[in-house]
Amino acid sequence: MKYQAPVDDMMFLIEEWLGIERLTGLPGFEDLDSDALRFMLEEAGRFCASELLPINATGDAVGAVLDSGEVRTPPGFREAYRKFVEGGWTSIDSDPEYGGQGLPRLLQFMVDEMLAACNLAFKLYTELSHGAGHLVAASASEDLRRRYLPNMIAGRWTGTMCLTEPHCGTDLGLLNTRATPQPDGSYRINGTKIFITSGDHDLTENIVHLVLARVDGAPAGSHGISTFLVPRNHVREDGSVGERNSVKTGSLEHKMGIRGSATAMLHFEDATGYLVGEENRGLVAMFTMMNIERITVGIQGLGIAEIACQNALDYACERLQSRAPEPRPDPSKRADPLVYHPEIRRMLLRMRSQIEGGRALAIYTALHTDLMHRAPSPEERKGAADTVALLTPIVKSYLSDLAVTSSLSAQQVFGGHGYIREWGMEQLVRDSRITPIYEGTNEVQALDLVTRKLSLDGGRLVDAEFSRWARFLEAARKDRELEGIIGPAAAAFERLADATGCMRQRVLEDDAAARGAATEFQRLFALTTVAILWAQVVAAISGKQGEIYERKRKLARFYMSHVLPETIALHKVITEGAEDLAEFDAASLTGQVRA
Ligand SMILES: Cc1cc2nc3c(=O)[nH]c(=O)nc-3n(C[C@H](O)[C@H](O)[C@H](O)COP(=O)(O)OP(=O)(O)OC[C@H]3O[C@@H](n4cnc5c(N)ncnc54)[C@H](O)[C@@H]3O)c2cc1C
Repeated sequence: MKYQAPVDDMMFLIEEWLGIERLTGLPGFEDLDSDALRFMLEEAGRFCASELLPINATGDAVGAVLDSGEVRTPPGFREAYRKFVEGGWTSIDSDPEYGGQGLPRLLQFMVDEMLAACNLAFKLYTELSHGAGHLVAASASEDLRRRYLPNMIAGRWTGTMCLTEPHCGTDLGLLNTRATPQPDGSYRINGTKIFITSGDHDLTENIVHLVLARVDGAPAGSHGISTFLVPRNHVREDGSVGERNSVKTGSLEHKMGIRGSATAMLHFEDATGYLVGEENRGLVAMFTMMNIERITVGIQGLGIAEIACQNALDYACERLQSRAPEPRPDPSKRADPLVYHPEIRRMLLRMRSQIEGGRALAIYTALHTDLMHRAPSPEERKGAADTVALLTPIVKSYLSDLAVTSSLSAQQVFGGHGYIREWGMEQLVRDSRITPIYEGTNEVQALDLVTRKLSLDGGRLVDAEFSRWARFLEAARKDRELEGIIGPAAAAFERLADATGCMRQRVLEDDAAARGAATEFQRLFALTTVAILWAQVVAAISGKQGEIYERKRKLARFYMSHVLPETIALHKVITEGAEDLAEFDAASLTGQVRA
């Protein structure tokens, strides 16, 4: 497998569309410029392609193993992790007060894309640490921050997110893990967590678990949940790592993909834990981490889609098979490269146009995660936070679905060879499949969008985004260069606006109908958002001549004509399909109903 980090496309989007000054104008980023950003991205790309990609297939073949109570990561992971830490890649956007580099979160997200493309299993050891670090920074006491954060940021210790239990995944209100207060202010934690990413491993001397649990006597449901920091090893007063806490690794899961990642069952047996944030407000604290993770999981999907597409294109250019329609590249040959077959070209272009549109979505959202913390005025910060809140389920669901469809299409381009291990496509198919599932399934994202985000603050989030889009479309309507782009984008926007009205009504009047169309609505929302962003990208380069600009315009038109029409069907299903869904109860689904 090969990988070329898409640094040019990332820089294109930042420089030619969003404007680098939107980032460098923010307090704390004054010293940053395009050259520095490009340099860091190129370094990250080099690291991922040269250190992580070569150990991806072995990581998959060998997997993480639990041996005599100790978890061993796959060959090469320890060495790669050491280099990762030495390169400073664990501390990109963390607080300089605790040893972080204080660089944009946008940069972190772009590096995330490269890491996921080259080795998602490896990336996961570092990913949860990043989110856990931000959670500790945002909600833990000064004492906990001082004691844990510098080591987490430096990559000496990693972090986890311990939510899921055997009987509860999506519905965290059901969780049973208990926390019993102790006289010294700590808590005794008892319970079992499953599916914990990087729950145990041999990369670092300590692991910091962030655990959801219910304090004795706390109310049932999600209002009785608190967050605790539970170290795998105790930390002594002088900061050194002490003996083991009572956290036992019960087993590692045998998984479809990301086999190099240790997904652990953890037993907390009177383990010592420390409260993070307020008692019974643990979900609020945990959402600091979950919101970052949701965007990151979307970006994982983007990375996998990118590497799948790159390799499929390479293969399609080299593999000669059958005669393509005229004009053929070399009529003297008995067969033509696959890429000359329109069906193959269509598959590649569906991937490419969605990946580059999807990257615009990812980078736009990522920029707003910086703006929401650093924009000068409170109004700008609030507006940016609204954009991030609204687009988080879109980024998570659209890009993770894209990972699955793109890796399947790439596998298809390889034909039978795509089914064979050595080409790497079947690993991408397996590895990508987790992204629509973890970090809140894509159905859960859709419910968040429909039942929360659409009506949040009286619908202000959606209304503000829609008015910006409407103003843009109106202004861009007369641009001749945007022919074939603005028309379809505006039509999709009309469908989305209509479907939004319909869904808002249903949320008030018919909960089942609203939920029954949530996933389709989310997809309509995502496809339309990407269309608008594609149109904005192309509008930003209007009048510019040159191959890269012309290529972008052609890709945008392809997206509008070959991908966006799906919104016609989605609109119909959303606005007209509710009755037919309601016809079925659980019994009639079985097909075993007698006359
Ligand atoms: C490899 C891997 C790594 C993971 N890493 C972690 C981790 O680090 N930390 C952690 O805490 N967890 C982790 N998880 C758990 C993961 O987040 C859960 O599996 C996921 O949230 C879904 O929960 P569940 O498996 O219990 O499915 P369920 O909640 O039982 O859901 C099953 C199906 O029903 C749907 N569903 C459930 N409720 C609703 C609803 N209200 N409306 C519509 N549909 C609904 C879901 O979308 C899904 O399709 C990991 C899982 C895996 C497989």
